[in-house]
Amino acid sequence: MLAKLLDAHVHLTDEEFSSLLGQIIDMLRSLNMRAVSVSMDMATARKNLTLTSSYSDVVIPFMGIHPWSAGESLDDFSDFVANNSGKIAGIGEIGLDRKYVADNEDGYKRQKLVFESMLSFAEKLGKPTSIHSRGSLDDVLHTLQSYNLRGVLLHWFAGSKKQLKQATDAGYYVSYGPALVYSEDKRSLLSDTPRDFVLVETDGPVRYSRCFESKAALPSFLPSVVFALARTLRLNYDDACSMLMQNSAKYLGRL
Ligand SMILES: [Zn+2]
Repeated sequence: MLAKLLDAHVHLTDEEFSSLLGQIIDMLRSLNMRAVSVSMDMATARKNLTLTSSYSDVVIPFMGIHPWSAGESLDDFSDFVANNSGKIAGIGEIGLDRKYVADNEDGYKRQKLVFESMLSFAEKLGKPTSIHSRGSLDDVLHTLQSYNLRGVLLHWFAGSKKQLKQATDAGYYVSYGPALVYSEDKRSLLSDTPRDFVLVETDGPVRYSRCFESKAALPSFLPSVVFALARTLRLNYDDACSMLMQNSAKYLGRL
């Protein structure tokens, strides 16, 4: 049966989920969902491989070095990719995070070097990417121009309407998460997003406030996000799911 929904960005390898993993996998199966499980570093990339070997029906593994882990060895990552290229569905979570390094210029330079290296892997392998761009969206958009990439997702999109237009004109996807349920600003951004470029995510185990009561986000949060999306775009729920699945399949090049 075709999946009903894709969580386009979640950290299933996060420590916080380790005791819940069985339940999360059951949840994904019973909701007929798939999840892009992103990595942060070498340890979570390896963990992701193990996860996929047991749960390949629901887990889609992305491997990458996150800007918060920019100190990781690029040689180790390169070896890992060479040995497992057939099992890697995409490159992520990668990107830049100006806020994480504040005014440490060397730290930001290292993030850029790592990000460029990750994009080269994605280009070489012809794989989609999942990109973090906190406080760095203009730099990220500029960097992406130098690569010939298929399936770029600017996850947790938090840019301006101008940046949104730049991104979607370039053919990049943007994803919205649980904040869509309570944030008027997010819904306004969504209204301006061309429908072919919208995806949804939980970014679990991130915690969301308001109606989500600061609990770690689970895949079961996703239907509420889709409901908020459907209302904003004046679609019925099933049509919103079909639209999202078509976008997800194009983004991933599979499902
Ligand atoms: Zn994330």
